[in-house]
Amino acid sequence: MVESLARRILGAAGYRRIETPAFEATELFARGVGVATDIVQKEMYTFDDGSGRSLTLRPEGTAPVCRAYLEHGMHKLPQPVKLWYLSSFFRYEAPQAGRYRQFWQVGAEAIGTAEPAADAELIVLLAALLDALGVRECRLRLSSLGTPETRAEYRDELQGYLRGHEDELSAEVRARIDANPLRAFDSTHPGTRAVMAGAPVLLDRLAPDDAEHFAQVCALLNDAGLHYELDPTLVRGLDYYTRTVFEFASDALGAQSGVGGGGRYDRLIEQLDGPPTPACGWAVGIERMLLAAGELPTAPSPVDLFVALAPGGDHRVAFGLATNARRAGLAAQLELAGRSLKGQLRHADRIGARYVAIVTDPMTLKDMESGEQQQTMPDAIIPTILRGSRLT
Ligand code: AMP
Repeated sequence: MVESLARRILGAAGYRRIETPAFEATELFARGVGVATDIVQKEMYTFDDGSGRSLTLRPEGTAPVCRAYLEHGMHKLPQPVKLWYLSSFFRYEAPQAGRYRQFWQVGAEAIGTAEPAADAELIVLLAALLDALGVRECRLRLSSLGTPETRAEYRDELQGYLRGHEDELSAEVRARIDANPLRAFDSTHPGTRAVMAGAPVLLDRLAPDDAEHFAQVCALLNDAGLHYELDPTLVRGLDYYTRTVFEFASDALGAQSGVGGGGRYDRLIEQLDGPPTPACGWAVGIERMLLAAGELPTAPSPVDLFVALAPGGDHRVAFGLATNARRAGLAAQLELAGRSLKGQLRHADRIGARYVAIVTDPMTLKDMESGEQQQTMPDAIIPTILRGSRLT
């Protein structure tokens, strides 16, 4: 369901599926995600492959996709290259509802475009996916982080501000003033929150072209009728973002309310030794989408034929009939549990089989809708089912 919706929504916008390996060189994440991030510092499953190489189970999808983009010469294709994935990821975190050590994400990346329309397109596509899945009580928060230069200046300013209020901050925030001062905005500590209420915000410090980029993204989202909140304190847990950042959260979830998010990462490809390549993307957690969507209707898969084996019936005939039925395009299942004939018929009824072939001599075909059954030639079974004929 998630996969087919993602394929339809993202495929229609020109995104093509990519699958990267489950593990990568540890260095990719250290360089790509950022050494100061929680992911790299605490959450990676890192191991040695026996020949001295350090490998890591992928904790996120963007750095691997960028590595693949460079390694497979996709920077020589017409740009942008638009890709999506549906894969499992691994983070060493304390498990709780909506937070697992192995989890699944759908992600989309548009690599090789600086256009505000790419940011807006990606956000609109994620909103469409969430909507199609029926994710409830979803809110979109939006901000811009500017360029690394603006961010560095702002970081200095924020660090100065935090140092001026060091006594009022939580020990954790105080310890990270140097490494990651922006995380102070995430703190739930009352003293820190009071300090942060008066802290300078990056949105007010954007360079004119970044401010213009952000204004265009906002205008396009307004035109698309998407509701969002500007949140200048939005901090994403990965270091590579520049300019636009966004996050969808659902009040239908508990503490882990983040459903998915992303942003622009204009310097990441260069950081991985590629040419300057602006890009933008998002990732959304599949388990969280499903939790926030509540019950999904699941249609039972149809069974055209159940092949039952009567005592003394020939196993090979039964196997051959099921195989030929599948080759003819029918959904066919074979008895594999050694049930009694009565048990097999009950099971066939439970799984909603339309017909049951009872392999005995002579062969019998039972129409489960009318309850009729008749002896039949083995060769006549598949054509009868294909015609959808009612046995009378
Ligand atoms: P991130 O890559 O951290 O921006 O995460 C994107 C989305 O993936 C989050 O909003 C969650 O929906 C999901 N996610 C991240 N970590 C986990 C986890 N440990 N368990 C389940 N889902 C997760």
